[in-house]
Amino acid sequence: MTSPIVRFAPSPTGRIHIGNARVALFNFLFSATHHGRFILRFDDTDSARSTEEFARGIEVDLAWLGIVPHAVFRQSERVARYEAATAKLREEGRFYPCYETPEELEKRRKIQQARGLPPVYDRAALRLTDAEKAKLESEGRRPHWRFKLEPGVVEWTDLIRGPAHIDCAALSDPVLIRADGSFLYTLPSVVDDIDMKITHVIRGEDHVTNTAVQLQLFRALAPQAAAPVFAHHNLLVSASGEGLSKRTGSLSIASLREEGYEPMAVAALATLTGSSDNVHAMRSLEELAKSFDLAHVSRNPARFDPEDLRTLTHRTLALYEFGDVRERLAAHDVVGHKAEPLWRAARGNLSRFDEILKWWRVVDGEISPIHEDAGFIGEAAQLLPAEPWDETTWSAWTGAVKAATGRKGKALFHPLRLALTGEESGPELAALLPLIGRHKALARLGG
Ligand code: GLU
Repeated sequence: MTSPIVRFAPSPTGRIHIGNARVALFNFLFSATHHGRFILRFDDTDSARSTEEFARGIEVDLAWLGIVPHAVFRQSERVARYEAATAKLREEGRFYPCYETPEELEKRRKIQQARGLPPVYDRAALRLTDAEKAKLESEGRRPHWRFKLEPGVVEWTDLIRGPAHIDCAALSDPVLIRADGSFLYTLPSVVDDIDMKITHVIRGEDHVTNTAVQLQLFRALAPQAAAPVFAHHNLLVSASGEGLSKRTGSLSIASLREEGYEPMAVAALATLTGSSDNVHAMRSLEELAKSFDLAHVSRNPARFDPEDLRTLTHRTLALYEFGDVRERLAAHDVVGHKAEPLWRAARGNLSRFDEILKWWRVVDGEISPIHEDAGFIGEAAQLLPAEPWDETTWSAWTGAVKAATGRKGKALFHPLRLALTGEESGPELAALLPLIGRHKALARLGG
């Protein structure tokens, strides 16, 4: 395959949620596996609802997931191109003004339904004379504009769904421009895909019907060029089958980040759910890209449980080598010779990344020791070995404490853990003790 060019095209009318991240990731991973380009395109022709703040927020969310686009475009800056396209369609008799109000259209649909007919626009506006149009306009009616579909079946080979077809007899001529003069997304999307030489349109299966219309637009606007290849993937739904839109708030990428979930946990869940690959933790998008294949995406709804993010976050952190997190640790001043051994000791105990700061305090800062049995702790303090300390110090020391006190198992180890770390449980003390060092250990044992 020659290098593909794909695009992720959100409307900046809100922040993206995990379902949108799935679309972004599919495109990004597809382009990464085939050494292609990933374009971020803001579908912001709805100027009343789109904001620059949402657009910036979406870029932040994508960057958090590890997705940095090769180029960014905004449809609001390309209106002249869309106008040129409508002029072309008009010349070819494929673009016509309509004057029906939403109420009139609704009434007609009800009549069609009552007669058992499909609710398809009857093209009444095509029969209006110039005089009738002028009269409607003089009454203050502003036209909306439709694209005249050609009859027949539109066929394409969907990279996920296989051979697909839609009979255009079942579709209304789509509205391309609203009565207020603004473009709906349908036409700008095709104009952009042509101008940006998009080779693959990977998007949710809620867009399948748009594809028939858009393929007709591709043919009308760029008859010489090959239309992109389409791939429509299943949508993420909750365990009960509910779509994501209603739950956008709690599953927005911004709120998942605030909850402390790892970006790679979100990426793995968003990508692997609803595919033949098992959902499992991954260290990087490069690793995820290696096994990524659109052919693995299932046709069934992608049911997922946000609770899985907890386990995946824990497992992702446990996979990270120090080099994977060095910069993140440094941003929290976790630096110096203790940083790497602490990461290795504690990575398997974290349910979110910032918990490492608690263990950093244990080895490098101050904590409140807990003394359950002051006599026993005092005796153990007397037996602390001399430095230098290493990973064998813990067993040498507890061996001596055991011999002196007769304690063993939990009765031996637990009070020492409480005194040294102030925590009920945590990473292996054999690893922590040399990082805590004799001076701090002695102080915590009250020695
Ligand atoms: N703005 C559209 C959406 O977010 C883009 C659909 C497409 O990829 O063509 O659903």
